[in-house]
Amino acid sequence: MEQGAGALRSVATRRRIIRTLSHQHPNADTELRYRNAFELLAATMLSAQSTDVGVNQVTPMLFEQYPDARALAAATTERLEPLILSTGFYRQKAKALIAMAQMLVADHDGQVPASMDALTALPGVGRKTANVVLGHALGVPGLPVDRHVLRVTNRIGLASGDDPVEVETQLCAALSKSTWTLASDVLILHGRRVCRPKPLCDECSIRTDCDHDRRVIATGQTTTKTRDTRRVRTPRR
Ligand code: SF4
Repeated sequence: MEQGAGALRSVATRRRIIRTLSHQHPNADTELRYRNAFELLAATMLSAQSTDVGVNQVTPMLFEQYPDARALAAATTERLEPLILSTGFYRQKAKALIAMAQMLVADHDGQVPASMDALTALPGVGRKTANVVLGHALGVPGLPVDRHVLRVTNRIGLASGDDPVEVETQLCAALSKSTWTLASDVLILHGRRVCRPKPLCDECSIRTDCDHDRRVIATGQTTTKTRDTRRVRTPRR
């Protein structure tokens, strides 16, 4: 993981940077399509090692056949696997989805619980998935940290380190709870669209605040399509 060069930015600066990025990405939200917490939980589990677009292609048929936890708990892997095959790792995902649904039925009356501890106790559900569901579908502040959030925050100097839990803790400490989920959505979109592994710094609204861009300028490297006439070093993921 690419690390920020200096100390973390002040709380005020970190909040200002997130505000500026939220203006650059005004409709930031999860790109997964869902109608309720159960659907978002299943869709987020399917998104591991896949894309949101790819997941959105399989979930309409999946949720038509298995609309809730009770239906999915009674599914067989033979019936489920073909429906989710294109998302990759379909055998493990089918087993995890059925086990998750069975625990929802056994322990939560078929409902998705609104707590980190209860969610991460479900088979196949990690902290990132739990934060996605809490923040988007259950009204509980959560700050999911994925590879985009790790890359972007380390470059800018919003956080330091490659441990998602540690970065989540640093970001949550600096931001007000009410902005946690939006901050994650904004950082993920920024990482997908602008601050890619090879960043498009000329298109970035916080360029003058960015540790990474200052280092690039100091060393005379170029980073963007528009300025890129030489082969440049691709930052590590
Ligand atoms: S200036 Fe470049 S490296 Fe910094 S956040 Fe923007 S795109 Fe990423």
